[in-house]
Amino acid sequence: MTDNKPRIINVIANNNPESQKTYRLLVDKLTLKGFVLPEKFDNNAELNICIGGDGAFLRTVHRHKFTNIPFVGINTGHLGFFQEILPENIDIFIEKYMQNNYVIEKIFLVKADICTKDSCFQLYGVNEIVVKGIHSKVVHLEVFIDGNHLEKFCGDGMIISTPVGSTAYNFSSGGSIIYPSLKTLQLTPLSPISSRAYRSLTNSAVIPGELKITIRPEYRYENSILVIVDGIEHRYDNITEINFTIPEKTISRLNFDRNMYWNNLKSKFL
Ligand code: NAP
Repeated sequence: MTDNKPRIINVIANNNPESQKTYRLLVDKLTLKGFVLPEKFDNNAELNICIGGDGAFLRTVHRHKFTNIPFVGINTGHLGFFQEILPENIDIFIEKYMQNNYVIEKIFLVKADICTKDSCFQLYGVNEIVVKGIHSKVVHLEVFIDGNHLEKFCGDGMIISTPVGSTAYNFSSGGSIIYPSLKTLQLTPLSPISSRAYRSLTNSAVIPGELKITIRPEYRYENSILVIVDGIEHRYDNITEINFTIPEKTISRLNFDRNMYWNNLKSKFL
């Protein structure tokens, strides 16, 4: 490295022994190459390396408030969709990184603007935001796309998934896989009730990124709704409306191999 400006990299690992081992190895190798690895998260870093599974990646993104510093993941979990590098390929990764041999990919997020009778809140998700009833009750939701009434949904709940989240909860619930560069949201029903009494769409719908999805809960027995963001539960009372959009804000990650997505899909699901 020729420039005198320190090249700072944040390395974040979960507590799993394999992640901790990889962390120590990575710190030694990157230090030898002249990078500075701060003990605490540094907002002036050029890169965040996250060691763990997809869950660890999601927690890191939330903890660091959807930072603009690009991410790269080293996978010590199951098969990681966000975690592209395998621990045994650390040397190749460092070499490619130092040669700028990668592309930076945008990750689209989902934003929920939640209004209750008293106030409004905003939540951001990487994978998805889910609307459910409390105490496992059936929820009754009026659903609108860009102001057009779509359905009166009855069932366990509704997933609003991002393209990168399409392979997570969305996929387990019968939703489609969406390539990450497609700027869309996917509305996927959770156990929709479709009977003589209730007519709910039983399949998911893929919505163009510029349209807004609105959900208005209809309260039957309880005035509370659960909003679950990337696995984290938030409970709200008296929600009047939730609007879901794709925000301007994105996060980014390094991609070293354009075939990785398809290889990952095949090995994770087939
Ligand atoms: P978690 O244990 O951190 O994650 C559950 C599973 O989802 C793990 O196997 C994880 O992979 C995988 N995963 C996460 N993001 C993924 C993605 N974008 N594509 C493919 N697989 C992905 O569980 P959590 O803390 O409750 O919630 C985190 C995420 O879990 C949520 O965002 C939700 O998508 C997912 N989830 C799935 C189900 C389901 O499939 N029925 C139910 C609830 C939540 P790793 O093993 O690599 O971490």
